[in-house]
Amino acid sequence: MSEVTAPTAAPVPTHCPYCALQCGMNLRPAASEELPAEVVDRTDFPVNRGALCGKGRTAPAVLSSRVRLTEPLVRCPDTGALKPATWEEALSAVAEGLHRTRADHGSDAVGVFGGGGLTNEKAYALGKFARLVLGTSQIDYNGRFCMSSAAAAHQRAFGLDRGLPFPLEDVPKTGCVILVGSNLAETMPPALRYLTELKENGGRLIVVDPRRTRTAEQADLHLAPRPGTDLALALGMLHLVVAEGRVDEEFVAARTEGWEAARAGAMSHWPEHVERITGVPVPQLREAVRMFSEADSGMVLTARGPEQQSKGTDTVGAWINLCLATGKAGRPLSGYGCLTGQGNGQGGREHGQKADQLPGYRKLDDPAARAHVAGVWGVDPDVLPGPGRSAYELLDALGGDVKALLLMGSNPVVSAPRAAHVEERIRSLDFLAVADVVLSETAELADVVLPVTQWAEETGTTTNLEGRVLLRRRALTPPPGVRSDLEVLHGLAALLGWEKGFPADPEEVFGELRRASAGGPADYSGISYRRIEEEQGVFWPCPETGEGEADHAGTPRLFLDRFATPDGRARFVPVVHRAAAEETDAEYPVVLTTGRVVSQYQSGAQTRRVAELNAAAPGAFVELHPRLAERIGVAEGEPVAVFSRRGKAVAPARITTAIRPDTVFMPFHWAGEGRANTLTNPALDPVSRMPEFKVCAVRLERA
Ligand code: SF4
Repeated sequence: MSEVTAPTAAPVPTHCPYCALQCGMNLRPAASEELPAEVVDRTDFPVNRGALCGKGRTAPAVLSSRVRLTEPLVRCPDTGALKPATWEEALSAVAEGLHRTRADHGSDAVGVFGGGGLTNEKAYALGKFARLVLGTSQIDYNGRFCMSSAAAAHQRAFGLDRGLPFPLEDVPKTGCVILVGSNLAETMPPALRYLTELKENGGRLIVVDPRRTRTAEQADLHLAPRPGTDLALALGMLHLVVAEGRVDEEFVAARTEGWEAARAGAMSHWPEHVERITGVPVPQLREAVRMFSEADSGMVLTARGPEQQSKGTDTVGAWINLCLATGKAGRPLSGYGCLTGQGNGQGGREHGQKADQLPGYRKLDDPAARAHVAGVWGVDPDVLPGPGRSAYELLDALGGDVKALLLMGSNPVVSAPRAAHVEERIRSLDFLAVADVVLSETAELADVVLPVTQWAEETGTTTNLEGRVLLRRRALTPPPGVRSDLEVLHGLAALLGWEKGFPADPEEVFGELRRASAGGPADYSGISYRRIEEEQGVFWPCPETGEGEADHAGTPRLFLDRFATPDGRARFVPVVHRAAAEETDAEYPVVLTTGRVVSQYQSGAQTRRVAELNAAAPGAFVELHPRLAERIGVAEGEPVAVFSRRGKAVAPARITTAIRPDTVFMPFHWAGEGRANTLTNPALDPVSRMPEFKVCAVRLERA
């Protein structure tokens, strides 16, 4: 590999391995097995200016060989246990398992499941590996669970999906922010300063969340709708915008299409009706409309709350309609944005590990896109399979027509909805190979486990929630016995007959990714590792310029002149409120909503191995209102059994008036009896195929 930066005592600038903020940090190698590196402030990186949450600060702990896998494991046919093996034995076993399944059952019997934490290079190589080496259409990734509804709504309205169409530095300068279903104080604490500065600058903050979170406590106005009713709330606000004559008619006429149908849809959502659906009092609704409409500029930022619903795409669409009707899109300091969750949730969906996409955010069913990418790959376009199943549908098909699975960077046994069913499906596979840094709950079920390098031990790019492409440079020598995901794909491809086309060098992969993305919506062709380092990241689209011309500057702000639709105009999409897929009833009378806590990350595979984080957040809990606690006869800290139509979870009660009496909250980071996703409903959004993690009906008992 030519890219290797020799380990050095000097701090190496890099980025946190966890969430989509991708905070900058410097890493200084340290000579300790317990803690192989220490984090040093990196105040020059503009997104976080040196600030880190506890997860970022303690991330080096997972680099310790005491908590991670350092040798391949292969399941012993005699004892059924995972046993250490050489890399040659392990890769041969994976190649044999995948090849045998293809030969016996066809290419689509092999599935591939990726992750939103994989670098752009890995996501690109994994998609190429699935489509060329395995010839399968059955590839998707856990980012589907994170951002797909916002992505679909972005595409419908603006013709392009990038989480934020502006840099975070614009947020404090706008007039009013509506933050919907995001608890930044817990999910990305360093980003909270943008809201603090907004208020210091005289801007207003409206938070929409069923819980009075630490973020909601910062708000000028907190609206607490019943989970699953954000769509009605947005429609009610749009109704009032029309009724109170607050529509920006000039903007609507000049920059949009489809207003009349969207307006008609909103007019049936009169405020009192919306109050009955959401529980948000009409005066609060009017006040929110007044604050947002009267601000010179404004933003709506959504996160998983409105997105992880069986109507997530329409819900986000309703918030976009509100932005468009009030002229708060496509203008400086204004617009709709999605606060993407996973570390490379943005880049991961741009380069081909999503079931329907090719690199550069091209569509797999577009003949021109297929021809371009096939040209870069040196194959006939007809070789490329068509679109496959979405993440949950793929997991649900395991053991059915999908009989073998290669999984990288994901832990669906904890993170997928209806997790007990997903676990049972995974157990029914003929063959499972998992590449991971630790023996996650999913890796425990594998036939072969491949130990791979981590963020600080490898070079690669990620794309943060702003669309800023970043570089993580290798800062440490990995322990002997682990290989990078790119080396794994390189080795497997060679064993399966592809000696060429799968380089293990990340910069070489990035060079090919640039060519594959050229001319696509997410055009990276003008971005290089050198430019990323010199410019603190480069915003896509950034096309390559001709010889002798100055570099394209990248695009920090989208849509200021035109939207990315064929005619340059944004699209209103008419939407109407509908109920959650599973409503409460006499048997299951309470709404469960799920989310994160500050000291754990996603399925917890990494953060649950960090002592400091575990001490702060040792396990699951059930947050409930005192009135509900009294009704079921449970006191603070006592175990509560939560039942849904999918199963049962048990966790201690955490009693607080910060939650609605009709709702309970559980964080989803843990396995075992506290696994929140045992309960969640896999009902899918018809457009984005996003499962409804945020709303299901449950019953509570004292355990
Ligand atoms: Fe890492 Fe996100 Fe925490 Fe920043 S906010 S340190 S990126 S987990």
